[in-house]
This record gives sequence, structure tokens and C-alpha cells, in this order.
Amino acid sequence: MGLTTPVAPVDVAALFPELAGQSRTTVRLHPRRGAPTAADSSMGGPLLWPADEPWPHCEARQHDDPSGLGGRVAMVPILQIYQRDIPELPFPTGTDLCQVLWCPVPHEPDYVPPLHVTWRDSRLVTDVLVDAPAPIESDTDFLPSPCSLSPERVEEYQSVWELPARLTKKIWEWESSPDNPEGWEYQSHLSTASGTKVGGWVDWIQDPYPMECDHGHEMQHLLTIASWEHDAGSCRRWTPLEEQHLLGPYQVPELLEPADIMIGDAGSMYLFTCLECPDRPVESISQCS
Ligand SMILES: [Zn+2]
Ligand SMILES: [Zn+2]
Repeated sequence: MGLTTPVAPVDVAALFPELAGQSRTTVRLHPRRGAPTAADSSMGGPLLWPADEPWPHCEARQHDDPSGLGGRVAMVPILQIYQRDIPELPFPTGTDLCQVLWCPVPHEPDYVPPLHVTWRDSRLVTDVLVDAPAPIESDTDFLPSPCSLSPERVEEYQSVWELPARLTKKIWEWESSPDNPEGWEYQSHLSTASGTKVGGWVDWIQDPYPMECDHGHEMQHLLTIASWEHDAGSCRRWTPLEEQHLLGPYQVPELLEPADIMIGDAGSMYLFTCLECPDRPVESISQCS
């Protein structure tokens, strides 16, 4: 099913010329509960993993269950993206599949799960692993429910936290002026798309945090894994047209948190990659409110 984000209710670049030329395209993934297979792009679905390749395990010591989980915990799939679905991902030469796994056990002190990212050539995977390790009994915050994806390209502007203070002041004055009778807010409705997405601007929850690879190159936003697809304010703009009839006074869990994950307090995990390093190293940072 295709999902369609409503068009922007206000042309912010016309209103604030400083924003002209600043829009970027992001690919909203629109995860929704489903039954994806290893041949599909998915969130929390089965991976196309070679039967003869070791499954990634987290070896960290921060697993906060003292009852003897031991050092090793099988990681769980969080995202699988095929190039045919999202060619915008900067796949390293010779690869067409991006797989992201994380550790399902909360890590002290910040509860951010370590990630494992693999870029591979799906055409080389002839013997597919059918019995991936079952996730250990754990806090379910990091055990995603399988979701299918409905990628949609939308234009967005940068987070208010990335704007110069003078422009922010102008925007806030406009928000509370008679020129904005519908009560639109830049940060919630007119800037970054909320939810899990690929590329585009980062929907920062706190101050922007520049990322550098090990070679000192500035890294680019690769994708965002979000706990929530929207919040009580942003749902007015970012809930797809096909689902707006489901909105009401209470949040609908299937729309709000389709994969049923929780990063900190409704936080997001931002993945960055280096476009100068051919192997596309990935670093991540998470923020919550
Ligand atoms: Zn771990
Ligand atoms: Zn680099």
C-alpha cells in the first residue's frame, strides 16, 4: 500500500527567503506491521543472511542483567534495505543490500544499543540462513515487531535547531502572528519529516551533533530509526492521508510505534556514513527528549 504525506500547508521558502534552496529529499520508510520475508526490505524482518557466515553477536560487558547472560548476545535485525527499493542509500560499489542489527539488551549507562551494519551483494547469497538465533528473553524495547516498508520521497527543511538565531526568531514571531491563523509550527509541521527515514535532514531532538569518521571526514546522515513515527503535535502534518481517519484524541499504537521499539524516552537513533571512505563506515548517535 502506498502512503502519502500531505503537502506542506505553508511554503516556508516563500515566507522566509533564507530557506530558499535548503530543502532536501528524504525517504520516509513508513514501517507498518506485516510479514516481510528475507527477500523484502523491512524493519525488524528476517535478513538475507548467508548460511555459512557467523551471525553478529554483541560482546559488550554492559548488559545490565547480572544473572549471567554471559558476554555474548545474538543481535537482532532492525532494518534491511534493498537498493531496488531505496537507490538513494549510498551503497558501496558492488553492494545492493544494507542490513542493520542491534543488541536487544539495554546497555548501561545510556540504554543505547550497539549497532552492526553490513553492506552486501545479495546476488552472492545463494544459501540463505533460515534459522537465525532466537533473540534472548529481554526487555522488549529493542525487539522490533516485523514491519513492511512503503518508501515515500518527501521534501523537507532543516530542524529549527540548525537555523541561525535571527531566522528562528522571525519564524517564532510568524507562528504566533495573525498571518498564521491555522497555528502551524515550523518544527512540528514545516521542517523535518518525523519517523524512520533515509537521508534528508536530521530530525534532531536536541542540539545537532556533527559526526566525523576515523579519517576525519565529515559524515552524512544515512538514516534515522525512530521510536515514534510522529508525536501529538506532528501527527497533524506527517500522518499519511490514507490513515488520517484513524487519528483521534488518543494516539493509535499501530501508527505511533508500528515496530514497537523504544529508544530511551521516545528517542531516535541517527546513523551517519562517510561518503569519502569507499567502505561507507557507519557511526550512530541517539537523542531523546
Ligand atoms: Zn549488547
Ligand atoms: Zn571517511
